[in-house]
Amino acid sequence: MSRKLPVIAIDGPAGAGKSTVTRLTAEKLGFKYIDTGAMYRAAALITLRRKINIDDESAVGDELKRSRIELKHEDGSSSVLLDDEDVTDEIRSPDLTRMVGPVCEKEVVRRILSGRQREMGVDGGVALEGRDIGTVVFPDAEVKIFLSADPHERAVRRWKELREKGVEVELIEVERDIIARDKRDSGRQIAPLKKAEDAIEIDTTYMTIDEVVDRITAIVESYMKR
Ligand code: C5P
Repeated sequence: MSRKLPVIAIDGPAGAGKSTVTRLTAEKLGFKYIDTGAMYRAAALITLRRKINIDDESAVGDELKRSRIELKHEDGSSSVLLDDEDVTDEIRSPDLTRMVGPVCEKEVVRRILSGRQREMGVDGGVALEGRDIGTVVFPDAEVKIFLSADPHERAVRRWKELREKGVEVELIEVERDIIARDKRDSGRQIAPLKKAEDAIEIDTTYMTIDEVVDRITAIVESYMKR
């Protein structure tokens, strides 16, 4: 399918800088920004709040279809609404984060959410970040980036983010969680975290956010000039 503007797929492990980098790149290019991790987090919150047994896939699917998950971006800040309620901070708590793995591995959850992601991005002019964007959601994305960084550096970044939000947590605990999450995301059967063969890998360990954004923007612009 040929689109006027490209789909940019940005995948990588937790803390590699995906959210900030994808949001800023999208802003710079005037593209839409879609944080697919926020959608999986909201799905986990739905199962928690409505006390759904996550092994009951049809109940999980029904609740998810009934729920409206919206991603909003205004004046440089992003929020996540679940049926009109702002759940931005709640879905990022360490406890909820640990619940996302088991929920996002359900086939029904992946089918519903990746379907919504495709609808949001199909016309192009969009930057999506996640784990399986370049491999499963948009295997035909025009630009694919895989962001990586040293696990300790990723843990430090996450820890600082959490502290800025007032969440008191030990760095060692954040690092342990990140390593466990990487293992789970990469080792799962369904839509595992992996670099698409045709993705460009950027190791962000020693790069600033602006450097990463400039690099990706240059890649997208050179694609658009072709
Ligand atoms: O990116 P973020 O850390 O918010 O993602 C939360 C979790 O959602 C990830 O650890 C992963 O298990 C899951 N996820 C996923 N597929 C995506 C995006 C996120 O499985 N496309």
